[in-house]
Amino acid sequence: MEAITITRTASPKEKPDFSTLGFGKHFSDHMFLMNYETGRGWFNPRIVPYGPFQLEPSSMVFHYAQEIFEGLKAYRTKDGTIQLFRPEENFKRMNKSAERMCIPQLDVDFCVEATKALVSVDRDWVPDLEATSLYIRPFIIATDAAVGVHASHTYLFCIILSPSGCYYPEGLNPVKIIIEDEDVRAVKGGTGFTKCGGNYAGSLRAGERAAAKGYSQVLWLDGVERKYIEEVGAMNIMFKIDGTVITPALLGSVLPGITRKSVLEIVREWGIPLEERALSVDELLAALKAGKVEEVWGTGTAAVVSPVGEISYKGEKYQIADGGIGQLTQKLYDELTAVQWGDKPDTRNWIIPIDN
Ligand SMILES: *Cc1c(COP(=O)(O)O)cnc(C)c1O
Repeated sequence: MEAITITRTASPKEKPDFSTLGFGKHFSDHMFLMNYETGRGWFNPRIVPYGPFQLEPSSMVFHYAQEIFEGLKAYRTKDGTIQLFRPEENFKRMNKSAERMCIPQLDVDFCVEATKALVSVDRDWVPDLEATSLYIRPFIIATDAAVGVHASHTYLFCIILSPSGCYYPEGLNPVKIIIEDEDVRAVKGGTGFTKCGGNYAGSLRAGERAAAKGYSQVLWLDGVERKYIEEVGAMNIMFKIDGTVITPALLGSVLPGITRKSVLEIVREWGIPLEERALSVDELLAALKAGKVEEVWGTGTAAVVSPVGEISYKGEKYQIADGGIGQLTQKLYDELTAVQWGDKPDTRNWIIPIDN
């Protein structure tokens, strides 16, 4: 791979107030770009000032959604250094998404280097307040100027950076979720296991209906029988029922979350019984009615671990235990965030420092 060229902006932007960042609203001074052409491979890796793209209206991504993305974060430690959490996992997953969507493969190590180089150039954009981070969004779009349906021969790979606020300004806060029994997100054989934009477009309607009823997230069921639990909007879901952690197995329709994988590794390490298997709504409701559901939480890069306080299904509301934050949920959140922000030694080889 060629060396990454760096063109610095002549007019750095004014930084936003790090105490009121929110999520995904501000973008840093630079972005990483790299092109692809069939027969030539990936070429011209470069860091350039952040700014608009110029694309033909016929660009394939606009018509057939040949697009994939990733999401990870850079964290500033108390001593001011910057670090990434398992970035190679994101680019390995991006390659699996790419394979499914006929997008060319990337070199995982090169992508990690590109991410490090970009974050290093925009290091001042990594916020330093408690629980804030720099959200990193790599994505690939199909750029052939043609409206015939086929895989594109040209692509653009891009990474942008967004300083993001603390997800829980008032401390871990339980969310209410609603089981969707009409729309489905994914089916086996489809694209559920990929991070592709199309999956999200198809899920917006259920999200809006949930929000109108006061629920912050949709809990998806399997696309065939609408019987088995799959995952939440942009999080994987876990239950602690009668002492055992249960989470849906990865069978093609569920997104293989890196937070999910990390939490399961910790759960195993702590010796807590764990089952990755199918969990039906009926089994969950029976356990809820028997008072055996001790904790429910979602996992994802943005929120890390998100306690669930209430689940709604077919108009009925079910409170989880006392509706507060479960003990294990809190412990998992504390463990993962301590490693991510460098408050605890990284004993699992999950941290990649940015050369400071
Ligand atoms: C990104 C995502 C997740 C969480 O994955 P992480 O790697 O933990 O951030 C879960 N479900 C869906 C649908 C996602 O897009």
